[in-house]
Amino acid sequence: MPDTPTAPVVGVLALQGDVREHVRALEQAGARAIAVRRPEELEAVDGLVIPGGESTTLWRLAVSFDMLEPMRKMLSAGLPAFGSCAGMIMLADRLRDGVAGQQTFGGIDMTVRRNAFGRQVDSFESDIRLTGVPGPPLRAVFIRAPWVEQAGPGVEILGTDSRADRIVAVRQGSLLATSFHPELTPDTRIHELFIDIVKGNT
Ligand code: GLN
Repeated sequence: MPDTPTAPVVGVLALQGDVREHVRALEQAGARAIAVRRPEELEAVDGLVIPGGESTTLWRLAVSFDMLEPMRKMLSAGLPAFGSCAGMIMLADRLRDGVAGQQTFGGIDMTVRRNAFGRQVDSFESDIRLTGVPGPPLRAVFIRAPWVEQAGPGVEILGTDSRADRIVAVRQGSLLATSFHPELTPDTRIHELFIDIVKGNT
């Protein structure tokens, strides 16, 4: 989709992880995408993507870049956000199997288990259907992925994986999270869904 004057500005948290892939997917899906590293840059965005990568590193860098509290504030003030994989971990109110002291931004009333799928299925791909994403099933790429172990009543479960029947995609208001990496496939439907959320269309 071409860039238009009405395209929302979506930031990609650029502390660590697959930032470039999200920027590309967001632009293809019709947003203006910018990398965000500093608290003041958060003011300029209509929504924010927290990429996949490594949540322990994201947490440590968020602390050293003074982003932890500003992120928490912006999220609780209603900034729409989408987290994939490590980004899902960062959006969880509760974390299992984190390293000692590991903190998240929080925002979604869920318990997420880090590296949940275990060693034998460290990485895999599968086709899944998601509520709110019309068309054929999505090819989902899981890399040392978390799953959602428990979700509060305000959390909408968008999809489960066929292998372990675990929750791998959720939405709570304008917060969206997936265990897998839509930024690593050419399919931009999840980014389109997020842009619709940012625009207030859904
Ligand atoms: N296992 C990673 C973590 O704990 C997440 C992996 C990923 O984002 N691909 O953050």
